[in-house]
Amino acid sequence: MAKIDSKLPFKPVSNPSLNVSRRRVITGLGSMAAASWLPFTISAQESVVESEILIIGGGMAGAATAFQLALHGRDVALVERGEIASEASGQNMGGLGGAGWGNMPNLQSYLTMGSLEIFKQLQIEMGYDMEFRVSGSITGIHTEEQHNYLQDRVLWLKSNGYDGELMTAQEANAIEPEVSLALPGYMFAPGRGQADPVKSTQAFAHAAQEAGAGIHTGHNVTAIEVRGNGEYSVRTPDAEFRCQTLVLATGSWCGPVGEMLGLTIPVIPTRGQMWATERLPPRFFHRISSAESSFTWSQDDGSDDKTPPFLTHKGDRRLTRHLYGRQRKNGEIIFGGDRQDLGYNTDPDMAGIEVNKNHASEVVPLVADLPIARTWAGLMPFSLDGAPIIGRIPLRDNLYIVSGLASSGFGRGPMAGKLAADYIHTGHMPRVLAESDPARCVTESG
Ligand SMILES: Cc1cc2nc3c(=O)[nH]c(=O)nc-3n(C[C@H](O)[C@H](O)[C@H](O)COP(=O)(O)OP(=O)(O)OC[C@H]3O[C@@H](n4cnc5c(N)ncnc54)[C@H](O)[C@@H]3O)c2cc1C
Repeated sequence: MAKIDSKLPFKPVSNPSLNVSRRRVITGLGSMAAASWLPFTISAQESVVESEILIIGGGMAGAATAFQLALHGRDVALVERGEIASEASGQNMGGLGGAGWGNMPNLQSYLTMGSLEIFKQLQIEMGYDMEFRVSGSITGIHTEEQHNYLQDRVLWLKSNGYDGELMTAQEANAIEPEVSLALPGYMFAPGRGQADPVKSTQAFAHAAQEAGAGIHTGHNVTAIEVRGNGEYSVRTPDAEFRCQTLVLATGSWCGPVGEMLGLTIPVIPTRGQMWATERLPPRFFHRISSAESSFTWSQDDGSDDKTPPFLTHKGDRRLTRHLYGRQRKNGEIIFGGDRQDLGYNTDPDMAGIEVNKNHASEVVPLVADLPIARTWAGLMPFSLDGAPIIGRIPLRDNLYIVSGLASSGFGRGPMAGKLAADYIHTGHMPRVLAESDPARCVTESG
């Protein structure tokens, strides 16, 4: 008998444009689960769930892919071991990218700007409250060298059709009154946004479900086999999921899940950690960051054959300080920045958090005197070369992956899911995905 898991605060939203019939095929569950739109857990031993396409992973990558495949009218199910948004997609800072499409849009332009459009679709057209807004972002410049670097960067952005401008400290302070007047300047990126990570990822999963996708939470995938008829058999302790096409959207766990298929997928779990103040009245209106890391990485991105680019640490050694933050709608001011390869360790490290708080205080001095009310950490899925891994894995039949979204998969996940879904639906690779081809890095194990 299926158990309805109503723990998720999904808000039913009726959307007349989503007139797609439910295609989920459930064997051995009865009508209760089939008729429900809530995520549910199958508790009966050896229940079999069949769908044409199965996605493993209920973060932003998986939820967004499920949503788009369901909109295409495909028979799709998603399986997640925890709850929707229980890992990085629910733990991140909530920053959304976007410097514009540019004169010759590349994969980064598609992922950032395309995702912003999809965020707008869910928040504005479909009525989900994701706390989405295009707030813009302000980046503190600490030194003359960083100023020169960003001056060149802004020139490059403008001449290639992207947005961004330099501001004096006075100009920045006029639109964001808490930024320091002591810094030599700021960069303003008007098109960047923010949204609540948990609410947003759950909105995508709910929208997928409304469009006909099956969402199955509380199922830890422990084995994957190929059956005689070419179907995948995906096993969890309580159920078997069968499908013709399998999509891996398992974030930092692409390595171990890939091993279940005999594949090596070079995704490095990278700890990001954050801290929050108590709730305060509105003080910050933009996203806040610092130019220190981008300047350092422009000189040396820190990568080698075992280390992805753009981390703040190599082993225990700090390479740079990185900073991102904002004030949430509930009033908490949140900041984070460190990116460290520590395996699957998600314990926050107070020494790193203090470094981050001092860094934030240089840009917005108000935070220096605010106590830290809570800390947390999560795992960012960095590919070894830093580029996304989105597309078909040619080493197996009908196998796809949507991952490697690194430090910006919340803001880039919606379009990553759309591009992957379009590929699966049409059988043709969207041309921009040439940059993220899994064939470049996914290999046979052993
Ligand atoms: C502290 C921090 C701050 C960040 N800030 C930002 C930001 O401001 N903006 C931004 O765009 N990005 C940010 N990121 C990065 C962003 O969160 C990630 O890139 C993104 O969430 C990755 O999404 P995903 O769906 O690929 O992975 P995840 O969200 O990790 O989802 C993968 C899912 O797969 C499931 N799974 C794994 N193995 C199994 C299995 N065997 N069986 C079933 N399910 C399984 C997991 O439970 C998980 O829910 C931040 C990340 C962190 C940690």
